[in-house]
Amino acid sequence: MRDWLEPVREWLNRRPATVEVARLSSVVRAAESLGDDVHAWSDDELASAAQKLSMETRVGLAGYLAIARELAARNVGMRPFAVQLQATAAMLRGVSMEMDTGEGKTLVGAMVAAGFALSGNTVHVLGANEYLARRDADWMAPFFHSLRLSVGVVTADTTRSARRRAYAAEITYVPVSEAGFDILRDRLVLDAGERVRSGAHIAILDEADAVLLDEGRVPLVLAGESETAPEGPTTSVGEVVASLEEGRHYEVHPDRRSLHLTDEGFVALEDSFPGVDLFGDDHEILAEAHVALHAEALLVRDVDYVIRGGRAWLVSSARGRIEQLQRWPEGLQAAIEVKEGLTLSPGLDVLDQITMADLVEEYGSVIGMSATLMTASQELQESHNLRVGRLPPNAPCVRDDEPGRLFRTTSERDAAALQLLSDAHATGQPVLVATQSVAMSELFAASVAAADMASEVLNARNDEREATIIAGAGEPGRITVSTQMAGRGTDIHLRPESQAPGGLFIIGLGIFPSRRLEQQIRGRSGRQGDPGRSVFLSSLDDELIHQAAPAHRQPAQVSVTGEILDPRLCQLPAHAQQVSDGAHESLRGLTQRYGRLLGLQRRKLLTLREEWLTSDATVMTTLSRDPEAAGKHRGLVSELELISATRTALLISVDRAWSEHLAHATSVREGIHLRVLVKEDPLDEFNRLLAQEWPSLVPRSIATALHLVATAPVRDGRLDLDGAGLRRPSATWAYTVTDNSLGTEAERLAKALFKDLQFPRYF
Ligand code: ADP
Ligand code: MG
Repeated sequence: MRDWLEPVREWLNRRPATVEVARLSSVVRAAESLGDDVHAWSDDELASAAQKLSMETRVGLAGYLAIARELAARNVGMRPFAVQLQATAAMLRGVSMEMDTGEGKTLVGAMVAAGFALSGNTVHVLGANEYLARRDADWMAPFFHSLRLSVGVVTADTTRSARRRAYAAEITYVPVSEAGFDILRDRLVLDAGERVRSGAHIAILDEADAVLLDEGRVPLVLAGESETAPEGPTTSVGEVVASLEEGRHYEVHPDRRSLHLTDEGFVALEDSFPGVDLFGDDHEILAEAHVALHAEALLVRDVDYVIRGGRAWLVSSARGRIEQLQRWPEGLQAAIEVKEGLTLSPGLDVLDQITMADLVEEYGSVIGMSATLMTASQELQESHNLRVGRLPPNAPCVRDDEPGRLFRTTSERDAAALQLLSDAHATGQPVLVATQSVAMSELFAASVAAADMASEVLNARNDEREATIIAGAGEPGRITVSTQMAGRGTDIHLRPESQAPGGLFIIGLGIFPSRRLEQQIRGRSGRQGDPGRSVFLSSLDDELIHQAAPAHRQPAQVSVTGEILDPRLCQLPAHAQQVSDGAHESLRGLTQRYGRLLGLQRRKLLTLREEWLTSDATVMTTLSRDPEAAGKHRGLVSELELISATRTALLISVDRAWSEHLAHATSVREGIHLRVLVKEDPLDEFNRLLAQEWPSLVPRSIATALHLVATAPVRDGRLDLDGAGLRRPSATWAYTVTDNSLGTEAERLAKALFKDLQFPRYF
């Protein structure tokens, strides 16, 4: 009989876990009542007591919280607030916590990590970037040491042996990207002893929504230099594309981030390549042309990339610095090199890759924290299995969040922002203007200067000064103009003199593409009960309005400053943001579905690989499939040598096969959108093509490996695989793929999704 409570239980499970969190307040009260007792104990006595507690029970948990509070106060100079204890309790019970900016999540994360470590788990605290991982590990180390727990930290320049030591600690602070690269590298070792990770049970994920959602689709890639020639646009495609004219052969979207060929453009292409079928068998030419055109028309030297030492280096638009660890998708890099007449850099073979969102699945459980989880709680639950709860802030937030204001044009919007800014500035109030790009921040800073006010600009061009700028942003009279980078992880302290003029005033320019981003920016102000104020100004010219509601009505009521007063139209920015949020969520879902089959295949292969890596018997069984390979060297080399050589051959061969399979998947996927034209479901088609290749992959790898073994010459009692032509891969590159390439499939999909989700004309 079906349990009639099932639907109720399901519903309860899907609800945010806030109720459960509230119930833990009694545990916190119990901990508080132990305060005087623990105060009388020495660090050593407290550490011994903590080791004996069972966190599973409410009494044990309360005891741990009391001890952790005392030790944190003594060793890092912060006495955790009751809400911090409550959050710690909830996270130790598996709930991911939303806590506002400045509530002290770093300390909470450390208390959670220590709590899990005391119960025998290894814990990774995954940080959003290197700076934060290093800062937090150093900051919290005295607390861990007082509990006799070891802590390690990994950053990009940590050597392999130092990594191994860091991961061997009970608690390791590591930026998500480095954790991902190490997972990838460990998957490719030829000897189990070369691995650096020692499998962690629990991940505490700081800024969880940024990692899982905003950057969730970003792939981390491990690649080696390819022996085949780099793939770029053939010169002829490059030449043809260089001769095309903007406005005639192609049109660039007003935001200058994407473009499309006009009919005349298609005709010009077809004329240049007589006899080709651009929409059929020769669709690579069309794809190549798109990439070349993208490089030609959208990427600007010294803005999007710089040339240094004969190489084109990408400048990240979000961070505005040269990104050594980011690359464009393969074709685009080559297209720029063709455009600039540089020597083509060697192509790369992708050895393996993993997305930010997928890498956390390597952990037994993941517990997140962030100031913005609740609005995405359903997606976090459904896609990433996170239960989310929220705690009210330690001191009530008194920041005044004013309703958004909409203007007719960008210049009217900016003029109004400047007016608001100078009014506030006159009273000595510090102001933070949040813009959406490096260019926008510089443009606005210029108009601030033109109005005879001094400002600090915080964008990727001067990120080395980030800490100093942020530290000063709460000073009276300070004006800071920033990109979104003044978002997460850093903390603006308000000077006491800035209280009277009303605390930090946040002015947001434009519609931010997600509600969470907007909340993050507002959260820079009003921390720990400080006064504060925030307002977002947008205009009908904003990109998101174009995408979400291109056909809105003309405003009937407009003020002299260009502000739109029609109540219905004023809803437009909020709705556009919702549409954008929805489109990105769909896109993430779609990417996840595309990745699913490939993920399963990878997992199967890794299981097999692990057996070859760790079991001599499995290697022997595989070897015995080929009597020639198995018998040929009998008596000439030891059994140990035979096993070891066969193992190496099998591992390298299966890794290469995977690399080729990935390349195949990528090329299938890049071409797949064209299949929509012939009315096939692209996802089905993608999966069908991947499944088709799969069955032969392992047998082929085994055959190749055993052939190598059979033909390898024997030298000094060893099998010389290299002599038989074994090519060893080198994992020279570890990088993330930038999202700023717009001719990509993701963008096209996003565009299509926007179309599906647009508003009815009624706006
Ligand atoms: P979040 O990550 O939640 O935004 P942080 O962990 O960066 O916050 O902490 C913000 C600031 O609050 C830091 O300067 C920290 O020193 C301070 N802080 C955190 N917890 C406490 C506490 N219990 N007592 C005093 N200061 C605290
Ligand atoms: Mg933080």
